[in-house]
Amino acid sequence: MKIIAVHAYTLSHRTKHMFIWRQGLLGSDPTSEETWLRLVTDEGVEGWSRTPRGGIAMDLAVRRLKPWLLGKDPLMKERLWHELWEIDRIEEFPMYIMGWVDTALWDITAKVAKLPLYQLLGGYRHEIEAYASTVTYPTTEEYLDVADQCLARGFRAIKLHAWGDARKDAALCTALRNHVGPDVALMYDGSAGFDPYESLYLGRALEAADYLWYEEPMREFSINAYKRLCEQLDIPVLAAETSDGCHYNVADFIAQGAADMVRTSYFYKGGITGALRVAHLADSFQLSAEVHGMGEENTHLCLAIRNNHYYESLVMANPIVVEPCIGPKGMVKAPSGPGIGYDINLKAMQKTAVAKM
Ligand SMILES: [Mg+2]
Repeated sequence: MKIIAVHAYTLSHRTKHMFIWRQGLLGSDPTSEETWLRLVTDEGVEGWSRTPRGGIAMDLAVRRLKPWLLGKDPLMKERLWHELWEIDRIEEFPMYIMGWVDTALWDITAKVAKLPLYQLLGGYRHEIEAYASTVTYPTTEEYLDVADQCLARGFRAIKLHAWGDARKDAALCTALRNHVGPDVALMYDGSAGFDPYESLYLGRALEAADYLWYEEPMREFSINAYKRLCEQLDIPVLAAETSDGCHYNVADFIAQGAADMVRTSYFYKGGITGALRVAHLADSFQLSAEVHGMGEENTHLCLAIRNNHYYESLVMANPIVVEPCIGPKGMVKAPSGPGIGYDINLKAMQKTAVAKM
């Protein structure tokens, strides 16, 4: 099988619900640019994938990826993944660019195998529980209200993104535990907002409030800082979400005792190939590899990886807006057709693209 054409289409739309973040920072752009990659093969099978930050992706698609991919066998994913690392040495890609290419290759492979991707990857479960992953709300009262709405919608697990103030966040986490009682699984995501001293203070509060995990309190630059925090706390520290270098880097987090659980995703860990490597690496140490983020790609990973326990579903706005894929009891399934199962309207995409190749 050969790749005979490489296309990319950038779609631009105003972001409907913003991911408001600590100190009012925007986690999303007011205008979203998403670029779709379309690989056409000589056997008529097509592979698709998408990435946000579409302008960066389009530049790389034109300059680097198209000339390199043309004529390649898309079923030789492992070889192509290693070649991407070679190109990365020159370009210093954002990690999601590796994932963009690799995911389209897996889409082709799963279509050739006539299987939904998660079954090709191994297949551990047919559905998984989602947790509601909040945006940042201005007051504790609003968080408690949003939590009530999430529980009424069928979620049984909630993760907070909060203000990035260790004392205020600790008080919020305690208030939420008191509000929902002992049976709701609660997690906290620091999104790298703290220094080691604040991280320790907040971690102790999360321990006392029986949180399930403490995610990314600090930037993931210093493995030593994470190692010290893991030694100081009993609550599992979940790390290596945005650290560069895929499993090569996650291996050091694990070997140094700098993470009790690790993050994996197609987005930040080099596609499906990289995400599986991280998951299997963690599994060999009997650690969890919790899938970060949403979308069909991560749903397939959630269903294929045994040592992952939830699907992360961002819950925006108030009243809450929930992804359509979340079932009434907070469960998620992957599309059942072959491949990843994106819902694509090629004609409309070609017509509305603000840039294309
Ligand atoms: Mg996170």
